[in-house]
This record gives sequence, C-alpha cells and structure tokens, in this order.
Amino acid sequence: MTDSRRPDLDDLEAKARAATPGPWRQGHVERSHVFCPASHVDRMADERNLLRLNPHFPYEADAAFIAAANPTAVLWMVERIRQLEEIASCSVCGALPTQALYCGACFPDGGE
Ligand SMILES: [Zn+2]
Repeated sequence: MTDSRRPDLDDLEAKARAATPGPWRQGHVERSHVFCPASHVDRMADERNLLRLNPHFPYEADAAFIAAANPTAVLWMVERIRQLEEIASCSVCGALPTQALYCGACFPDGGE
C-alpha cells in the first residue's frame, strides 16, 4: 500500500538540486522575506532577497518554514530517508514495513 502523502523523492531531489543552495534565512526585520547567500564564498556578507511572501497572509511562519526547508536541508533529508529505507527494507522482498520491524509477508512470525 502506498502512502499518498509521500513526496516523489526523485522529483524533490531534482528540484532541490536546481534551486539556489541553502542555507536560507528569514529576514530579521522583513519577516515576510527569505534571504539566501549570493555567494558561497562569503555567506553572511553577500546575501540577496530570494523571496517576498504576501504580507496579507500569516507570512512569518511561512517564511520561517521556507527558509528552514531550503534545498540543502531537503537534499540532506532525501539522502537520509533513502539510507533509512535501505536499512529498514525487507531483506527478502525489499518491501518497506510500515508498522512493524519485520515484513509481514516474509516474516509472518515477526522475525521470531
Ligand atoms: Zn518481505
């Protein structure tokens, strides 16, 4: 059974690689803005305004979230999810158990 909430990791990785690398940060004064380094040589001295959110919405939380979920962070998570799924997948059929430690199809006794 597939989880409809699961993002397409290949698509997410491709988009993260194509986007401006992180880190990103929320503006300290302009709370609806998201900044990123313009140069990765000198990160703090050379930023640019990447995004201005619509100030008519509760933009501060959205700007903070977008800054935190930057491409560098997303690429780390995609890599980590793949590593953990590789570790957790069934050694027999490759399926990923969702509720149990062992694949119910290959280990009906729960690995005992
Ligand atoms: Zn299995």
